[in-house]
Amino acid sequence: MRKLQELITALPEGFKLEDYQIYPESINRLDDSWIFMVKVEGTDYLAVIGELTKKFKGKDGSGFLLADLNHENASVLREIFPFTAPSAVLGAERTFGVGDRLGIACFGHIRVFREYDARPVFAQQSIRELNLTQRSFADVLDAVTFAVFREGFRNGFGADGDHLKKPEEVEAALECGYTMITLDLSDHINKGDVPDLEIPAEIRQRYLQKTFDVEGEKIAFSEADLKECLHVYGKALNFAAVIYHEYIAPAGGRINFEVSIDETELPTTPAQHYFVANELTVAGVKVDTLAPRFCGEFQKGIDYIGDLERFEEELKIHAAIARKFGYRLSIHSGSDKFSIFELIGKHTRGRFHVKTAGTNWLEAMRLVAMKDPGLYREIHAYALEKFPEAKAFYHVTTDLGRIPKLETVSDEDLPLYFQNDDARQLIHITYGFILNAKNENGSYRFKTRLYELWRKHEDLYSEMLYKHIGKHLKLLYSGSNQGGVEDEI
Ligand code: ZN
Repeated sequence: MRKLQELITALPEGFKLEDYQIYPESINRLDDSWIFMVKVEGTDYLAVIGELTKKFKGKDGSGFLLADLNHENASVLREIFPFTAPSAVLGAERTFGVGDRLGIACFGHIRVFREYDARPVFAQQSIRELNLTQRSFADVLDAVTFAVFREGFRNGFGADGDHLKKPEEVEAALECGYTMITLDLSDHINKGDVPDLEIPAEIRQRYLQKTFDVEGEKIAFSEADLKECLHVYGKALNFAAVIYHEYIAPAGGRINFEVSIDETELPTTPAQHYFVANELTVAGVKVDTLAPRFCGEFQKGIDYIGDLERFEEELKIHAAIARKFGYRLSIHSGSDKFSIFELIGKHTRGRFHVKTAGTNWLEAMRLVAMKDPGLYREIHAYALEKFPEAKAFYHVTTDLGRIPKLETVSDEDLPLYFQNDDARQLIHITYGFILNAKNENGSYRFKTRLYELWRKHEDLYSEMLYKHIGKHLKLLYSGSNQGGVEDEI
């Protein structure tokens, strides 16, 4: 508030306070210049006073500049205020990725990460998400930059080019200033029958007739195991090494590197994880995090499905392998996996990376169900229509028959759809269709109305995310505090 008082005395005459709603956390002074964010008729702008006006593009007020929240101005902001630029945060003990497909969730995410020491990865988007939302790496990062500036969040954040598969995708993310690359090896992972391949002598020597001890857990390889490892991961490991040495190593620590082998049908066995970790090390590849494919099912936007005892057993070994090789486990599709968060916190000893994305979209749609029942009904019906097409892109076991029919649900009860796993998945996997649906005249069928509604209820959405993402962290932390650490002695 003191900053606001100071600013008010410094405001030029042309700046009529009553016309602008100033965001108090955004007020920054740099020498004799002031820069802060204001809301005018529902739209946010940067307001700049003094020398700094020369740096930004905008329209001149009397004695101040009103600058649009566009890419050019975001780049300037990142230069002047490094806290609005992403950094390599994976060196922290705990990190958490929150995809914001819509560019409106970061305000709520910031509320969460003011309370937890896990470092956030606010910008986190895969190519598929970018295509479906018609956004670019730059759009995603710019939205975060402005949110962080507006809320005065100075703890730092990461920007993850998620599930990248091609060198040109890695390049594009890095060019936009992303500080983390998640390399998805799935296009190079073989499945199917293992051919009778020749095991190279150095690999035989490294693994056969040996037992590897990982925190008391014994890992050994038969010839058949080794052939399978080579068949499944051989090409993928080469690809990871090429990308690492080409793009990551030269950055000298400014870029975090994650390798993901989670998008496969079969779970990664602990021995396979060990093989991958060890071969990466031999190839000089240093990863910050690695995402194995765990047993059970990590379907989008709903809780874990599978045998919890087996999951815990394997998680323990996966976490131990990660510790041995000096990285942390990355848990993908982490949205709403409430039954396993405590186990993850516990067995990783509080050192984890968890990624969520879809749940932020689902909360945004729950808000629609709460605030505009008519619009929600239209969208729900449309999602049902598009479901068969959408299903081709996801592994989900959704049963539309278990979703109550729209005509049987009262307006007040519409938000209850989001307590129904089948309805959650219906809305989750159709997000691209919903956002891109067009009317005959080419205008958006839902998108414009959706953004208007979300903008109008921005504070409510932030509060919903604060609670919902907060619940994820609360469980992870509560698990971290449950023993686990005593094993270390
Ligand atoms: Zn993944």
